[in-house]
Amino acid sequence: MSLADLYQNDQFGLSIEIFPPKTEAGENTLRKNLKKLIEFQPAFVSCTYGAGGTTQAKTLEWCAEIKREYSIPVTAHFTCVGSTTDDLKSWLKKAESLRVNNIMALRGDPPDGETSFQAVEGGFTNANQLVELIHSEYPQFGIGVAGYPEKHPEASDMKTDLINLKRKVDAGAGAIYTQLFFVNDNFYRFREQAVEQGIEVPIIPGIMPITEFSRIQRITSMCGTDVPDGLGEKLEAVKDDSEAQFEIGVEFAIQQCQDLIDHGVPGIHFYVLNKCKASEQILNALGIPQKN
Ligand SMILES: Cc1cc2nc3c(=O)[nH]c(=O)nc-3n(C[C@H](O)[C@H](O)[C@H](O)COP(=O)(O)OP(=O)(O)OC[C@H]3O[C@@H](n4cnc5c(N)ncnc54)[C@H](O)[C@@H]3O)c2cc1C
Repeated sequence: MSLADLYQNDQFGLSIEIFPPKTEAGENTLRKNLKKLIEFQPAFVSCTYGAGGTTQAKTLEWCAEIKREYSIPVTAHFTCVGSTTDDLKSWLKKAESLRVNNIMALRGDPPDGETSFQAVEGGFTNANQLVELIHSEYPQFGIGVAGYPEKHPEASDMKTDLINLKRKVDAGAGAIYTQLFFVNDNFYRFREQAVEQGIEVPIIPGIMPITEFSRIQRITSMCGTDVPDGLGEKLEAVKDDSEAQFEIGVEFAIQQCQDLIDHGVPGIHFYVLNKCKASEQILNALGIPQKN
């Protein structure tokens, strides 16, 4: 099935992204929080693929558990990092045997300390090659890919990045999920440019509720995302009051998501960071229905 089908007939596609916890306590917390988030009937839950190698096997385990527990579609993230084409194929075979529905097909980041991505011998250099492999050999998987409203950091300019994004769509991706952002105008501009580039698949904004001043500092220094005037200052002003930071972050995310919905986005992909309190409040405020 194409991932684009999830967003047909004005169907709003909520998706929830989690990551495999590294400790047993983290796993138990995630199980508890997921139970609450599933009440909002997401179109799918996606699980990330660890950059450093430690949590890679866990991606499929979590996808299998969620499918078993809740019978909802699951999306396994998957990167080209450190894998030959044969390695990639055997992982995809395993995903197929576990009845994973969709793959988020990614290149992955260079290892810490390295500035450019090096493919292993017999591996892939870019995500479009992984999409091509999945599309030709495992056509049953829906394929999602990453998009960057503020440009991928390695791309020389936006136009080049959009040409490369189109390669992933032409190779078989059914939907684009964006990097997190806080300034909606950057997303709207990106969406327009993508359409001008001939990209017709749904583009789903990726949203991360920011409920801690320290996190916004970390994110902006990591990926250079624009932060709207005043948000950083507002959070900083209450940096010793975690409840006040939480409220500011949730209120900001509600307004951001409502504006995106008003501008006709087909869905929202929530980076929930394995938590649920902020997302529950945001989804309730947006009127996303819960199971009866
Ligand atoms: C929704 C989402 C989920 C993510 N999940 C994970 C995850 O689970 N695990 C993880 O490790 N990382 C994850 N990432 C991060 C991602 O791996 C990094 O952003 C990585 O740096 C780029 O991956 P990509 O798939 O966008 O790569 P690509 O599409 O290959 O793009 C990477 C760079 O190469 C350029 N490029 C692309 N194709 C070509 C080509 N054919 N020729 C020349 N240049 C090209 C692009 O313009 C870009 O600058 C995620 C990102 C997003 C947005």
